[in-house]
Amino acid sequence: MTDIFNPKNISLLAEPDILVIGAGSAGCLAALAAASQKKYSVMLVERYGFPGGTSTQMLDTFYGFFTPGTSPKKIVGGLPDRVVDELYKTNDMFLRPNTYGAGTGVNYNPERLKLVWDKLITEAGVNYLLHTSLVDVVREESERKTCIFWNKSGFYKVKARRVIDASGDADFCALSGYPFEIAGENEPAQSMTTTFRMSNVDQQKFESAGGNKMMKERMADAFENQTHLLPRKEGSAHEMCQSGCVSTVAVKVSDLNALKVDELTKAEIEGRKQAFEYERFFRDKVPGYEDSKIIGLSHQIGVRETRRVYGEHRLTKEECLSGRISDSSVLLCGAPIEDHRKGKDGQDETYWEYIPGTGIYGVPYGTLVPAGSSMTWVVGRCFSATHDAHASCRSMAQTMSMGQAAGFATVQSLKTDCDTKDIDVTMLRDNLVRFGQILEVPDSVADTTRNGWKNNKNRI
Ligand SMILES: Cc1cc2nc3c(=O)[nH]c(=O)nc-3n(C[C@H](O)[C@H](O)[C@H](O)COP(=O)(O)OP(=O)(O)OC[C@H]3O[C@@H](n4cnc5c(N)ncnc54)[C@H](O)[C@@H]3O)c2cc1C
Repeated sequence: MTDIFNPKNISLLAEPDILVIGAGSAGCLAALAAASQKKYSVMLVERYGFPGGTSTQMLDTFYGFFTPGTSPKKIVGGLPDRVVDELYKTNDMFLRPNTYGAGTGVNYNPERLKLVWDKLITEAGVNYLLHTSLVDVVREESERKTCIFWNKSGFYKVKARRVIDASGDADFCALSGYPFEIAGENEPAQSMTTTFRMSNVDQQKFESAGGNKMMKERMADAFENQTHLLPRKEGSAHEMCQSGCVSTVAVKVSDLNALKVDELTKAEIEGRKQAFEYERFFRDKVPGYEDSKIIGLSHQIGVRETRRVYGEHRLTKEECLSGRISDSSVLLCGAPIEDHRKGKDGQDETYWEYIPGTGIYGVPYGTLVPAGSSMTWVVGRCFSATHDAHASCRSMAQTMSMGQAAGFATVQSLKTDCDTKDIDVTMLRDNLVRFGQILEVPDSVADTTRNGWKNNKNRI
């Protein structure tokens, strides 16, 4: 029998210049941005059988492209626009007005989005491997990081010159010994949510009966009178690209740690139970839903936060609320702090705090650099931020932008032979802007009408 735990006995699968771990919104963009420079080999590895992470496992709305409020501005551009353009081509997206406080959403068909990610990644020439999980990292060997992956074919080694951790849970950083905070250690962790989709909803009947306002009142009533065992008084349900279908973010599972698999198992069971209680509520109480049923649960329960890496820079609430865009900003964010947490009375509530002034702040490059790292970046929901700052800067237009920035930074670090933390950020920002990223407050108000996507500039 081979000693599989001795890295010497594990076959070498690949030696890419750049390795991206996790094909969520952040990881896909990181791989696309790195490959767009056509200079170095890029490998993208994902544990599930499809790309997109949270974007395709459970959601259908990109928030963060537009600032909230009455004068929305478009603050994300470049490769994230390319993703939406592909969805636009097949009529698989529309702009949804700000009904729940987070600003205009780019609503998309998540099944089509899987195909779009596949297409963009394969066309870009990325070495793309699904159904493959990172399970270990071997201490640095000379110029390369050695990662151990497992899939149905066995254990494999990948040696890479640069690594981008886009696993959502910062698995690579944790295995490599970089410092991190676990959500829940200091402030209560944001709750988890099993999303679900319902079919055969009569939208016209729903709207004539009072639409969202009516739905919220009935939810609160069912919660208070315990006619249905709902976990909270509120929750969102919105139409999807597929007609007659509605997507919901309503379930709330709190006080369980998604990094502990026994607790995650409990969360999955509880999330499904709540989803079907919501189905009963909708059918019994909400006009238009009488003949509807759940047609899909999220692929797994939605996890908002687990590990947050300590980086060369840590984004804080004060920084978000300062509305400052500095010379080191590599993306913009205008999303409010939206914290799904447990209230004082033990009930789940959502806390909102909007960004004052221009309503926009810049996210510094150092938030993507694990403290002390020389060849590693961290992007997406495990980037370096405090709990409150993360509750603002976690929408997918921002996670895609983090991926875009890190993808360009890896290429720059290889080209100029420099460490992660020694990158010339002015050069990086220039490259990002050349590619269509937006790093200054735009003058004009965006067209956020349902079909307004094509009227917004900054397309590459
Ligand atoms: C319930 C819920 C509702 C939300 N609603 C919205 C919304 O409406 N709009 C919005 O913009 N944002 C929303 N967000 C926030 C947003 O979706 C996330 O912050 C964002 O999608 C995170 O992207 P990511 O790429 O960092 O992580 P993920 O999407 O989690 O991607 C990580 C990827 O890495 C893979 N992976 C993990 N570990 C490994 C490993 N060891 N080896 C290989 N692969 C691995 C995963 O399978 C996954 O594909 C919501 C989040 C949740 C949970």
